[in-house]
Amino acid sequence: MIVIGVAAIEQHGPHLPIDVDYVLVEYVTEEAARRSDGLILTAPLIHYGFNEHNMGFPGTITIRETVFIDFVYDVAHSFVRQGFDRIVLINGHGSNQMLISWRGGS
Ligand SMILES: [Zn+2]
Repeated sequence: MIVIGVAAIEQHGPHLPIDVDYVLVEYVTEEAARRSDGLILTAPLIHYGFNEHNMGFPGTITIRETVFIDFVYDVAHSFVRQGFDRIVLINGHGSNQMLISWRGGS
């Protein structure tokens, strides 16, 4: 199984850094892999996400919905082409959820 973390860079107000979404996802995915006794591998994170609603706040980066869907698909499908049959996306940003929720297919 390979796990791909998906996150975002966005404002979180004065109390959190703009990279908190991917810092948390990175920790969760790396810790899951560490505890899996070799059953889980981690791919490099996808740092950017869909974030149109926060573009009024400095530091936020957004990726257009169709570009984001295609990019995440291409990353995951690259692993399929290399023989992985279990790919899990771990999402750390709420607005990505509707865009990465798919099952199966090729
Ligand atoms: Zn977020």
